[in-house]
Amino acid sequence: MIAKSPLDDAGINQYGLYVHIPFCIKACRYCDFHSQGVKQGDIETMLGAICAEHRLVSAEGHFAGLKLRSIYIGGGTPSIIPANLWGQFVSDLLDDVDTSKLIEFTVECNPQSANAKKLNVYAESGVDRISIGVQSLDKRELAILGRPHNAESAIDILNSPELSLFKSVSADIMLGIPAQTKESLQQTIDEILSSKFVKHISAYELNIADNTPFGRHRKILPLPNEDELSELSTLLKEKLSEAGFVRYEVSNWALPGHESRHNSAYWTHVPYIGLGPSAHSFDGSNRHGNIVDNMRYVEAISSGKLPREFSECLIGRELMEETVMLGLRTSSGVKKSIVDELTGRNHAIVDSFIKAEFLIDDGEYLRPTNAGLDMADGMTKLICRQ
Ligand code: SF4
Repeated sequence: MIAKSPLDDAGINQYGLYVHIPFCIKACRYCDFHSQGVKQGDIETMLGAICAEHRLVSAEGHFAGLKLRSIYIGGGTPSIIPANLWGQFVSDLLDDVDTSKLIEFTVECNPQSANAKKLNVYAESGVDRISIGVQSLDKRELAILGRPHNAESAIDILNSPELSLFKSVSADIMLGIPAQTKESLQQTIDEILSSKFVKHISAYELNIADNTPFGRHRKILPLPNEDELSELSTLLKEKLSEAGFVRYEVSNWALPGHESRHNSAYWTHVPYIGLGPSAHSFDGSNRHGNIVDNMRYVEAISSGKLPREFSECLIGRELMEETVMLGLRTSSGVKKSIVDELTGRNHAIVDSFIKAEFLIDDGEYLRPTNAGLDMADGMTKLICRQ
């Protein structure tokens, strides 16, 4: 079956909006996303600064004429925002923004801080997709990861009747947790799939960054070896396929029609604005990264400056290589014309991937098969090295 791209309905004159809420109750032991602890008044100050940043970016004019297509509020922990602040925040954030082309509005929820009241206020503000950071439903694994939630709170939120207010619900599952077994993974998957609301799964392998407690104690962690990891991954693929989920990106699965439109836009270089500390923006050729510190971020905004830590220009071969890398990670694939340009029409490598059934040539696109998605990064390296 030829995969339809979740972007088939996207126009080139659209953009996505990402908002990074940089607070967590506590830091998970593996995580190197930017987040800090929260004190009285911090959340109100940060929400005000994020809305002010949006106004500064709009005044800069790089996204003028583009229509807002999707919103993703992530972090950190967006569900840490009290229910009584949410409606005003969204209204300030989108003040003066044309939302007539908005097709998806996602909020990430941590089971520890999400509740029925917050789900109701999300729905009232236009949110239509919820992403729940479950990771595991095994008590021991959650404790090892240092997650702030327990299995009971995750099961409660996965089955909360308020989830019926949303078009789509996604759950995150983690593979490769220390001491994870096939049995514990199977239980986690079964329990998540027993929720009638879950239509999307993001399944990521544990990635250990050096600057985290896991990174500092990597040697003593009982991490699954390569064979065990491969068995966990096979189990996940079997269970999700049996349940009707389709893998549309290396780590993302959805029931048909429930693919994340916002994330799909990243993979095809649709422009996006990133607001909040550590968020990135991309206007089609320039990428900017924001300051990775809450206090310095707020200070920059207060003095009327865009809170940028770095900027880079992606052009020519670099942009093409990134396009190939991102495209080969999705079942929609990458345009043949781009691969031709990169390889100087040397088809030997691509032909070998087609012969090995890692890629399908549909005439216009090279689309990875399921086996090809597992090889996406390796294929990219070989294609780009030519
Ligand atoms: S809740 Fe999420 S963002 Fe916060 S520390 Fe844990 S993994 Fe990182």
